[in-house]
Amino acid sequence: MVDIEFNIENVQKCLCPGCPVQAQSSCVKEKLDKLKSMSGSPGPDDVPGLYCSTGKAKCKDLNPKEMCKCGKCEIFTKHNLSQGKPAGYFCANGKAQ
Ligand code: SF4
Ligand code: SF4
Repeated sequence: MVDIEFNIENVQKCLCPGCPVQAQSSCVKEKLDKLKSMSGSPGPDDVPGLYCSTGKAKCKDLNPKEMCKCGKCEIFTKHNLSQGKPAGYFCANGKAQ
């Protein structure tokens, strides 16, 4: 059972915001813009990332034909997520188990 905590430290490590799967998403862009001016702690719905912790993306305009960056993420390595299910594309497939 993998349990990746949703916290600011992990949000900052997550590579999803720079992932090509999300690059053309206006929904993701809007969330990233809002985050920049947000005071206080963002919640899971505010952050377009850390899907291995929080599950499928709320934004529906992602492009799963592009390449997932999770394999290069330190959280992925630390929690050995390549051995889990799903083993990437958490934005589409749900949180790491
Ligand atoms: S889970 Fe993978 S495919 Fe989805 S946005 Fe993050 S890095 Fe990209
Ligand atoms: S493994 Fe993927 S979804 Fe999880 S923090 Fe890293 S880049 Fe984000």
